[in-house]
Amino acid sequence: MDEALARAMEPVLRDIAGTGAPRPTIRDGNWQISSEYPCAMLWGRDGSGMGVSVYLGDAESVRIVAAAENVQQWVIDELWAASRTNWPVCPGHPSTHPLTPTESNGVATWVCPLDRAVVAEIGSL
Ligand SMILES: [Zn+2]
Repeated sequence: MDEALARAMEPVLRDIAGTGAPRPTIRDGNWQISSEYPCAMLWGRDGSGMGVSVYLGDAESVRIVAAAENVQQWVIDELWAASRTNWPVCPGHPSTHPLTPTESNGVATWVCPLDRAVVAEIGSL
């Protein structure tokens, strides 16, 4: 896999490990738009795949947020069958919504979408 994409995905994969969420099987993508957009595929146990990509022109923190958005969507789809779809869980509103990956002052963070409170740096859950 592309090194920059692997680096961008590392924090959210660490959060998956830290929270016990399902982890995708990651393979190289075959739908790459251009060399500036490295991509990979996230595969679930049921054989459904989802793409993840980052733009190399973005700052590292923005790439981490982009990768986290893609991987979060994959996790939520994967949890759908278990009827537990909010990942990562917002500590202030655990039954309402998941946290949103957001870039803030050069840092990739998990933020509450309701009150915009910064809960954690992506990769530290
Ligand atoms: Zn919240």
